[in-house]
Amino acid sequence: MKPLALFGGTFDPIHIGHLSVAWEASELLDAEVRLMPANVPPHRPPPTASATQRVDMLRAALRWQSRLTLDTRELERGGPSYTVDTLDEFRREFPDRSLMLLLGADAFAGLRSWHRWRELFNVAHLGVINRPGIEACIPVELERAVASRRTDDPQVIRTQPAGRVIELAVTPLEVSATRIRDLLAAGRDPRYLLPAGLFEDPALLAPYRLGPVG
Ligand code: ATP
Repeated sequence: MKPLALFGGTFDPIHIGHLSVAWEASELLDAEVRLMPANVPPHRPPPTASATQRVDMLRAALRWQSRLTLDTRELERGGPSYTVDTLDEFRREFPDRSLMLLLGADAFAGLRSWHRWRELFNVAHLGVINRPGIEACIPVELERAVASRRTDDPQVIRTQPAGRVIELAVTPLEVSATRIRDLLAAGRDPRYLLPAGLFEDPALLAPYRLGPVG
């Protein structure tokens, strides 16, 4: 069975940075990748779009391909989305499968603020995606915790169920949801920073536009 890689985020909104890195990670690892929108990210301000709106955007973005899929379990569970709880749930569902948490280098650098972060390695590998334009300095304590877990061999990820850390060199794309929200709020039209599906229905991007929908 292929490894299962989970890519969590706010996806407020989903953009080409998310999609491209998830796609390339899937190719590099020959893994199934699920995009998993978070309900209430414990360490972040609430999203601009509602959970339903973010899911509608994800569905529109993921049409016409099958490599990347959507998993809404964190939204269905309600309450804060602690990744470690979600990974435990996946582990119960797939006792022997290689599981991976995919995250951008900025998210990885902040891992120590996550709930029960050391336990993540018991249930999954970590796939760290390079992300340009963001200063992601890895704290010494984190590096110490992961040094012996590092590998650069995708085969190790495929054959072990959890516990390793791999850096995934993907095409760098300096795109963020913050920048896209700012552009939309300023009345701009970031057409090629977002997947085409998001422009098919004006209601999808309406949460970010300050003026009347046009
Ligand atoms: P915001 O600007 O609102 O903080 P974001 O663009 O960082 O949003 P999130 O939904 O918070 O998007 O990110 C989900 C995951 O995707 C995180 O692990 C983040 O590091 C990663 N990510 C987002 N954009 C990129 C990108 N352009 N390149 C690599 N990783 C990315």
